Amino acid sequence: MSATDASSTGAPGTPLTTDESLVDQVRFDDRGLVPAVVQDAAGGAVLTVAYMNAESLRRTLETGRTWFWSRSRQEFWCKGETSGDRQYVREVLLDCDGDALVVLVDQHGGGACHTGTWSCFSRTVGSGPGLPRPDPAPESAAGPTGR
Ligand SMILES: [Zn+2]
Repeated sequence: MSATDASSTGAPGTPLTTDESLVDQVRFDDRGLVPAVVQDAAGGAVLTVAYMNAESLRRTLETGRTWFWSRSRQEFWCKGETSGDRQYVREVLLDCDGDALVVLVDQHGGGACHTGTWSCFSRTVGSGPGLPRPDPAPESAAGPTGR
């Protein structure tokens, strides 16, 4: 069986073991939405950010596939249902104050983005060294390697 077959038949997701007391603690905003950061369980990459309402969170937990609410189209959508780039959910995490989710997934197909990239975050707006590195230790600068 080829990868194409697996993609076209759309393997079902696996329902998640769910902590209902935490589901009740999700704080949806005044539009009834909560942002969901979708992260690649394998590589750790942030794949996309989308919104869930209570029903799409419920569907996600019950189907093991990512379900979102489209603010522009005002409709539910299941990631990859038309493209084949499905997301199989391993874990849904709630942040400390209950107003954001992280969804760890096994990304299927060509990636999370409709533009064809693995992650939606493929454009670098700015970059820098972060914590400045200390000067090289004197012994390595005077080392014998000659590189
Ligand atoms: Zn994208």
